Amino acid sequence: MHAKRSLGQNFLSDTHVVERIVALAAVTSDERVLEIGPGRGALTKVLARRGARVVAVEKDERLAADLARAFALHADVTVITGDILKLNPAELTPPGSKIVANLPYNIATPILLALAEHAAHFSSIVVMVQREVGERICAHPRERAYSGLSVILAGSFIARPGFVIGPEHFRPRPKVDSMIIHLMPHDHPVPPTERRLFISVIHHTFGQRRKMLRNTLGSLPGMDAEHLEELALRGGVDLRCRPQELDVAQFLALSRAYRELRG
Ligand code: SAM
Repeated sequence: MHAKRSLGQNFLSDTHVVERIVALAAVTSDERVLEIGPGRGALTKVLARRGARVVAVEKDERLAADLARAFALHADVTVITGDILKLNPAELTPPGSKIVANLPYNIATPILLALAEHAAHFSSIVVMVQREVGERICAHPRERAYSGLSVILAGSFIARPGFVIGPEHFRPRPKVDSMIIHLMPHDHPVPPTERRLFISVIHHTFGQRRKMLRNTLGSLPGMDAEHLEELALRGGVDLRCRPQELDVAQFLALSRAYRELRG
């Protein structure tokens, strides 16, 4: 069966790498795990061998059918045929579950943004993504890779780099390097009611990342010169800064101040 590029199908062919991913996730016996995109089951097999109780969501109907057949006698592996972007991830496994996955790279960002909305449901998330995306997610303020995605996900998770692997560990080979990252849910994530404004302030400022905040925040709806100084004061930021100099707490403070000033 040919791999479908449209579904980001690059299958892990190196059991050593699979073992390293599962070790990083520190999966123990009886632990509940959600796997996104199990493909031919490279990770699923090792998770099951460790005694995890796995729910695996696969969009490709043929792969899902093959996997369900392979695990038919294995009560601890449930294969769901479906599109993870159309499901509520928090309804698939009980609270406190882990996520372990080699994500389809073409939709890794929307998957992670959706998971950020349900961060408190999971105890830890270990996923493989394209290296460049992993570097953005794990970047800190002032680093070259620091971006809107870094801040949005920092509102829900503490992100740590795991390790990087080259294309030779997959069939077929992807064109890019891959990175395993570890996301731990925040004790105090951005509250659901505040996420929309938080994200819109991030998009608004990073949309023109070379401009000073004075220029980008000044064009937020409802802002004028007088309100702008007040916004900076309440948000605790210097209007001469650029967005990549602010951390997640400052973005949250800015979005809260913006909500108050807009009335
Ligand atoms: N876990 C396997 C491995 O490591 O060898 C496969 C990983 S492959 C990078 C990504 C998998 O995600 C593919 O099996 C693909 O069919 C599946 N997939 C793609 N889009 C999906 C979606 N929206 N929902 C669920 N699975 C998806």
